[in-house]
Amino acid sequence: MRPYDPTQIEPKWIERWESEGLYRASEDPDDPRPRFYALDMFPYPSGDLHLGHAEAFSGGDAIARFRWMQGNNVLHPIGWDSFGLPAENAAIKRGIHPKEWTYANIDQQRRSFRRVGMSFDWTRQLHTSDPEYYRWTQWLFKRFFDRGLAYRKKAAANWCPNDQTVLANEQVVNGACERCGTPVVRKDLTQWFFKITDYAQRLLDDTQELEWPERVITMQRNWIGRSEGASVVFEIAETGDRVEVFTTRPDTLWGVTFFVFAVEHPLVPKLAEAGGVPAEAASMIEALRSTPLTVREEADTREGVNLGVHALNPVNGERVPVFVAPYVLMEYGTGAVMGVPAHDQRDFEFARHHGLPIRVVIQPEGEQRDPDSMPEAHDHEGVMVNSGPFDGLRSPEAIPEVIRWLEEQGKGRAAVTYRLRDWLLSRQRYWGAPIPIVHCPEHGEVAVPEDQLPVLLPDDVDFTPGGESPLARHPTWKHTTCPTCGKEAVRDTDTMDTFVDSSWYFFRYCSPHEDRQAFDPEKVARWMPVDQYTGGVEHAILHLLYSRFFTKVLKDMGMVSFSEPALRLMNQGQVIFAGASMSKSKGNVVEPMPLVERWGADSMRVTMLFAGPFEDDIDWKLIEPDPNRRPAANAWLGRVHAAVWEAAEREGEEPEELRRLTHRTIEAVTSDLERFRFNVAISKLQVLTNDLRSTLDASGGGREAATALVQMLAPMAPFVADELWREALGNAESVHVSRWPAFDEALAKRDRVTLVVQVDGKVRDRIEVDASASEDEVRDLALGSDKVKRALDRREVRQVIVRAPRLVNLVTAD
Ligand SMILES: [Zn+2]
Ligand SMILES: [Zn+2]
Repeated sequence: MRPYDPTQIEPKWIERWESEGLYRASEDPDDPRPRFYALDMFPYPSGDLHLGHAEAFSGGDAIARFRWMQGNNVLHPIGWDSFGLPAENAAIKRGIHPKEWTYANIDQQRRSFRRVGMSFDWTRQLHTSDPEYYRWTQWLFKRFFDRGLAYRKKAAANWCPNDQTVLANEQVVNGACERCGTPVVRKDLTQWFFKITDYAQRLLDDTQELEWPERVITMQRNWIGRSEGASVVFEIAETGDRVEVFTTRPDTLWGVTFFVFAVEHPLVPKLAEAGGVPAEAASMIEALRSTPLTVREEADTREGVNLGVHALNPVNGERVPVFVAPYVLMEYGTGAVMGVPAHDQRDFEFARHHGLPIRVVIQPEGEQRDPDSMPEAHDHEGVMVNSGPFDGLRSPEAIPEVIRWLEEQGKGRAAVTYRLRDWLLSRQRYWGAPIPIVHCPEHGEVAVPEDQLPVLLPDDVDFTPGGESPLARHPTWKHTTCPTCGKEAVRDTDTMDTFVDSSWYFFRYCSPHEDRQAFDPEKVARWMPVDQYTGGVEHAILHLLYSRFFTKVLKDMGMVSFSEPALRLMNQGQVIFAGASMSKSKGNVVEPMPLVERWGADSMRVTMLFAGPFEDDIDWKLIEPDPNRRPAANAWLGRVHAAVWEAAEREGEEPEELRRLTHRTIEAVTSDLERFRFNVAISKLQVLTNDLRSTLDASGGGREAATALVQMLAPMAPFVADELWREALGNAESVHVSRWPAFDEALAKRDRVTLVVQVDGKVRDRIEVDASASEDEVRDLALGSDKVKRALDRREVRQVIVRAPRLVNLVTAD
């Protein structure tokens, strides 16, 4: 027997697996094995692998390997999300070209992935920054453009002053840039958008098809933010302009006492002119020009300028004063709202400050509410009052009736709005796919023809950020000719948000070398949708929403036959340190690769998977506080190594008890791995290891147990498993292509015994129980028995005598 030395074992198997081509997905259409697409979210090449990668990929790899052994033809690809800000910023900081830095990191990560023994099909690698890839990103953009799903408009955008680029709404977290944490400001720019709002309802409806974590579904649903209500038209008395308003509470229309426009509403300057306050309105518009939208959401509700004009309430013809105020946002609804101060807190504060009337139109039954003494707005549940034809009806139940009435009267209609906005995809940065559009003075925006793609990103660019795209500063790059008329024209100088690149990479994996189309539809039909997607919950909205949108658009284009990219999703937790996220600035970053070099990749994997439920955070300080101490996982694998070698060399009968435990363990671990309960599976393998050890110590045989143990260990500790499988147990082929062990039902069956339940010494019931049932379990079973309850006939039980698992005696007499 040899000592367990992962530094000797592991490098050897890396070479062997590669030369054997173990993890290549078969494209043979006649391959009878069921296909399984195991997808891991691909990494950013912003340095070497970190502990978060080590955790995520340990889980993703265990799933892929488990499926291989269950007889699936598995597609388990890898690639790099290699355009984007992190690479560009790091390159600027180091004074090297983003391309050089990015590809050096990819090489480093690739070496590390190989070192930890990932079961990737390396023949399918892709990098989104390769022209062979972004050519098709551009092609897809063009297809979206042709369908009217990519459009350009001038709009208020979120601008990160640090990164010098705009951000999508999804990339702004609590008013700050999700990348660098700098507070976002507002900037008016002409930008490209994808019309994701056209898909809002389908993105909501199709969540029903998904076996995804509930919290991800909830986050997406909230982000899409559907609300139902009515759209009502108010007329401006002085100018005759008609203004549409959306409200979820048309039952409060009779409580409107003022009307408010967002600062950006196009009618504001005209109305201010008509009302005689153009200067006041202009100064408010000016003051808000640079306030970020996310800060505006918390705007002071008292601020506002009376425009001096009036809106006519369509339900009762009342004239109410019109304001412009920062607390109303152009981005939500129509940019104009009706003020109902009695039933909306923000409206209430505004009305109090400006001395506007407050009118209660809904109140709890039997109560009289006095607007003058109200300390705050009241919720709107109760009975409608002061509401013309609707007085006395219960609200909110009356809303459908109010909408019907509005429609009959021609004053409004039922309407639905969404919080979701279109996806802003232009970026004023260098390291991304150029937007394949040419601007012609005569023909406007013209898509670059397909045969001229890719529009290559030039290498010789001063890419320091400066407010406009670095491509615009290149002396020649943007000058071209119009594809339509051949006259002089300029290229669009923005690049695409990298979330465009990552919205379709999983299609590309199915035919990564395809050079006539983005992907081969036949191969995509064969592999997709993805069977199991693994990655971080931080992508719950951005990447996972965009990918779903892309898939639906491709379906509408007839390129794929399904509308969801991945049916099952698993989110691993984060790896943190002493309760805080790891970061260079905190100086608490633990690098995984030195630990792998010292203790082995298998130990790293088992440590990650054993730390707790896969979806929970791992606090590394609690798991492995001392990098110089031998990890518990390494010690356990050492015990496995010793026991399996010993069992392999031992002749001799295998005790019945060990055989039973082996088969029970196979049954349980199979079901654990199907549900990603890696930690539970490992603890059962540890129990089996201990029993194997004691059997060997008592001179018994254990070859069957050792064989099953090695196979079940293979998805989680692939190196030592293959070493033991081939070297100790003498198999010719890899454990990773062996068939997952089956269990013998008879052996796996737990021993059952008869529990006798007595009441005052008389037998009242006999119950079959597990031989290993605990005292508490048999006591509960005895007390729950109907026969026992009848025998007790409501008498009080004074004493319970338990001899688990065979006897419970309930004593009622003194
Ligand atoms: Zn930033
Ligand atoms: Zn032209």
